[in-house]
Amino acid sequence: MKTGRIIRSLSGYYDIQLPSGDIQRTRARGEFRKSKQKPLVGDFVDFESENDEGFIWAIHQRENFLVRPPIANIDIAVIVTAAKEPDFAPNLLDRQLVALEAANVRPLIYFSKMDLLEKTEHEKINHVANYYQSIGYDVIFSDSKSAFEALKMMLKDHVSVFMGQTGAGKSTLLNHLSPQLGLETGEVSKALSRGKHTTRQVTLIDVDEALIADTPGFSSYEVFDFSVEELDDYFPEFVEKRQECRFRGCLHLNEPGCAIKESVAVGTITQSRYNSYKAFYELIKAQKPKYKTDN
Ligand code: ZN
Repeated sequence: MKTGRIIRSLSGYYDIQLPSGDIQRTRARGEFRKSKQKPLVGDFVDFESENDEGFIWAIHQRENFLVRPPIANIDIAVIVTAAKEPDFAPNLLDRQLVALEAANVRPLIYFSKMDLLEKTEHEKINHVANYYQSIGYDVIFSDSKSAFEALKMMLKDHVSVFMGQTGAGKSTLLNHLSPQLGLETGEVSKALSRGKHTTRQVTLIDVDEALIADTPGFSSYEVFDFSVEELDDYFPEFVEKRQECRFRGCLHLNEPGCAIKESVAVGTITQSRYNSYKAFYELIKAQKPKYKTDN
């Protein structure tokens, strides 16, 4: 029996990387279907393999996982956020941050297109970034001299995924890290158009001792899979302050003596973050209840 990490899955086969760097191919044991657990890219597994045949016997416990893209044990999620063109969208950034907090994945905010900013716009983004740093998030600016090196340092020895809205420059950044990123996705879609039986999958690509996920899409932040009572757990600055709310279980909306609303009034919590909180509250309320899919 060997132990390794799944770095790629395609049509029922899994490519598993051993600690030595060797990659071996195998299949998932049939029983996994019954237990509803499916091996994911990023999983550590116990397996056997000989001549590209064999089975995965056990999946090690996961640190975390995302559903779309399907990937486990992610150390860092880089949120590529446009500072301009499209305009910086705090609500979208907060949505991505909340989704990652809920999934227990550490975010890194990468502000792209900083070179397009006028001086006053630059100051505004700096101000915004300072706030995110003050509540515990790492931030990298695309126009700082060492941006690319800083990013590579953060990714080294880790598994990372990249997310970002259209036009944020995610592909450009990935391509800059390695031209190989983005290639896999193209190959799969070509295979699909030829009618081959393949599914859109994630591949972990080794880039200078960093494992970077090549993901065909990222939509794990489009729906929130938790209740409104949990929402404030995913705003780190709310977690710190909420024990000062007069009522336990305060939802920070219309309750008297709410420490969160007081913090917004004095400016220690930004209006923008509070707006996001309220918007997500409404969003979760409006979502149709759906059954959790166990992955
Ligand atoms: Zn409150």
